[in-house]
Amino acid sequence: MAETSELICVACPKGCPLIVKHENKNVIEVIGAGCQRGKDYAICELQDPRRMMASTVKVNGGLHPLVPVYTRQGFPKPLIPQLAQKLREVEVPAPVKINQVVLEDALGTGIDIVASRDMPAAH
Ligand code: SF4
Repeated sequence: MAETSELICVACPKGCPLIVKHENKNVIEVIGAGCQRGKDYAICELQDPRRMMASTVKVNGGLHPLVPVYTRQGFPKPLIPQLAQKLREVEVPAPVKINQVVLEDALGTGIDIVASRDMPAAH
């Protein structure tokens, strides 16, 4: 039986309210989207929701004990708690460079986790 879900498109600052008619995860119709990106967002949100995630990982011998990191692309939403757990186990040696991969192919998703700033070694 067809269901209806309400979403706000976050693909641009306009924030169009979307009404999505779907059966299970098959989208039948998207109402309210101001452009194609909103329709694509609604389909993705129903079938494969993803989020950018920011966190920190430990740095051995760094000026500070942690370096901020982020997912290079949107990460599958259901796996985010598991990713948070995994990042607690990651340790990288100083120095760390901005955009350096600290965890490759996180949880087999093909998505790398990268540093969002430099972390020099302690002197
Ligand atoms: S549907 Fe298009 S215009 Fe509306 S918020 Fe999304 S991207 Fe922006």
